[in-house]
Amino acid sequence: MSARVLDGQALAARMQEEIKPEVAAFKAMHGRPPGLGIILAGNNPASEVYVGHKVKAGTSAGFYVDLRRLPETASLDDTLALVRELNASPVHDGILVQSPLPKGMGRGAEQAVFDAIDPSKDVDGFGAPSVGLLVQNRPKLVACTPSGVIELLVRENIPIAGRHAVVIGRSDIVGKPMAMLLLHRDATVTICHSKTPDLPEVCRQADILVAAVGRPGLVTRNWVKPGATVIDVGINRVTDAATAARLYPPGHKRLQLFQSKGSILVGDVHPEVEEVAGALTPVPGGVGPLTITMLMANTLKAARERAVVGG
Ligand code: NDP
Repeated sequence: MSARVLDGQALAARMQEEIKPEVAAFKAMHGRPPGLGIILAGNNPASEVYVGHKVKAGTSAGFYVDLRRLPETASLDDTLALVRELNASPVHDGILVQSPLPKGMGRGAEQAVFDAIDPSKDVDGFGAPSVGLLVQNRPKLVACTPSGVIELLVRENIPIAGRHAVVIGRSDIVGKPMAMLLLHRDATVTICHSKTPDLPEVCRQADILVAAVGRPGLVTRNWVKPGATVIDVGINRVTDAATAARLYPPGHKRLQLFQSKGSILVGDVHPEVEEVAGALTPVPGGVGPLTITMLMANTLKAARERAVVGG
C-alpha cells in the first residue's frame, strides 16, 4: 500500500488564491490593505529565509507587509518599544516577532515580547491571552502551524471527531496548540514528549499521528497503525551522509539530491512510513507552506475584526 499524499503545497496555493480577492475587498472598503508588521532582530540565516518567504507571500497576496529590522545588539527594551509602536499603529493589523531573538536579550525574552503584542494583532497566536482563549475553546488568533494542519485534515475530509490523535512534541508553538485544536474537534488526544515511555507503542494507537519533534526520521513504519493519517511537522536539515543513507535507499532521488547539494530537508517521519500509512504529508511540501498561508489568513481575520471594533 502507498499512502495518499496530503499535498500542503497545493492547498496553500489554493488558499492564497482564495485570500487574494478578500484582501482586495478589504482594501476597497477601508482604503488600505490589511497590514502585517514583522520584527526581525539579528542575523539568523534561517530566520532571514523564513521572513523572506513571509514577506513574499504577503506582498503577492496584496497585504501591506512592513519588515522592521533590529540589529543583533538590540536590547529587549528596543524590541518591546517597537512592539508598542506597532500596537499603536492604525495600519498594522498583525504583528509577528520572528524567533529566535538574539541570545543577548536574555532568557524569557521571546515570551515577554509575545505577551506585549496587542492580542487583537497577535497573528502568531503565541501571546498568553491568545493561548488562554484557545485552551478555553474561544479561539481568536491561533498559532499558524497547527491551524494549518487542521485546515489540511478538514479539506482532505479526514475525520477528527472520535479518533485517537497522538501528538509527539509539547512545544508552545506546535505540540500544545495542536493537541488543543484536535481536542476541540472531539479527538481523544495523547501528547507525547521525550520522557514518554514506550513511544512506539503509544503511536501505534493513533488514527491521526502528528510528529512535531525535530528528529530526522524518528517515526518508523513499526510506529504506525496501518491506514493511519500521519502529519509530519518536522523540518530538519540533514548534512551527514549516514543519516541520509538511513532515510533513503541507494539510488533514491532524494539521496541523489543530498549527494549533489550536501544537505537536504527531511521530516520527523521516516519515508518508509509511506508504505503503511493511509495518508501522509510530505516534507518538503506538506505542513510548511500552510504555515505561511495561515499567517495570511490570520492577518486578514485580525484586520476585519479590528475594522469592526474600530467602527
Ligand atoms: P521544540 O524543540 O520546541 O519541541 C520538540 C518537542 O519534541 C519537545 O516537546 C520534546 O520533548 C519532543 N522530543 C524531542 N525528542 C524527542 C524524542 N526522541 N521522543 C519524543 N519526543 C521528543 O520544537 P518545535 O515544536 O518548535 O518544532 C518541532 C519540529 O517542527 C522542528 O523540526 C521544527 O523545525 C518543525 N517546525 C515546523 C514548522 C512548519 O511550518 N512546518 C513550524 C514550526 C516548527 P520535551 O518537551 O520532553 O523536551
